[in-house]
Amino acid sequence: MTTRIASRFTAKNTFIAYGLAALTLTGCNLETGDTAMPQPESTHQAHHLGVKATLYFHTSIENKWVYQQLYELAEQKLLANFTAQTWETQPAVILDIDETVLDNSRYEIENIALGRTYTLETWKEWTARAAAPALPGALAFCQLADSLGVKVIYLSNREVDETDATQQNLEQLGFPQAANLLLKFDSSDKTARRASVQENHPVILYLGDNFRDFSEDFSKRNQQFGADVLEALADSMRTYFVLFPNPMYGEWEKPVAPALDSPDRIVDFLDN
Ligand SMILES: [Mg+2]
Repeated sequence: MTTRIASRFTAKNTFIAYGLAALTLTGCNLETGDTAMPQPESTHQAHHLGVKATLYFHTSIENKWVYQQLYELAEQKLLANFTAQTWETQPAVILDIDETVLDNSRYEIENIALGRTYTLETWKEWTARAAAPALPGALAFCQLADSLGVKVIYLSNREVDETDATQQNLEQLGFPQAANLLLKFDSSDKTARRASVQENHPVILYLGDNFRDFSEDFSKRNQQFGADVLEALADSMRTYFVLFPNPMYGEWEKPVAPALDSPDRIVDFLDN
């Protein structure tokens, strides 16, 4: 079965594979200490490794401010949607976790530094630490929703055996309603889990770093990298969705996989 987390980590594997290639090409294999490899065009290679994307995400104040801005926008949408009518049943907000609420870029950086590829085992070692920091603005948003009496649902493709550590991580950071976790137990498609919330609560806002956090339709990106799906859903998303940036990995990588695999032919790929 192809699961979302599997597809996500396939993307991560691609990224880390480039990282490994770079470490080898730069003649510095951190695992073996081997420095005998030929010197590469390191700057050129680095553009294709995901290293810059990871460093941008992890260190740049630009990224921190983008998250802060988007969470402030999310607060405005939450308040607008919440006050738009009188609710007979408790409304809910649904947030993705990884790279929406929690920042796992430290795990990505450790993989690069260790010359290590992603594995589910090392990922779960990371999540078991319950040490991921909150992304800027996330805590204040969730606290606002909680103060309004809105149900806060954390819907993630972390797996169910990561439940305790994930809840602990969120609680340590002060996130409200941290027990409201909907993690992956079979499919990476979040549609059924969203529907299980919608059965009992009107969902007034969704937040995620991947359009699949809003609709599974975004797994189909056959035309202009999914521009047709985006156009079809844009009006609904303006009201009910806030997207956060994740250049490190994600659904966006799938249609550009040929360019990632052959960066020397990236112009041909994009022009054809
Ligand atoms: Mg995510």
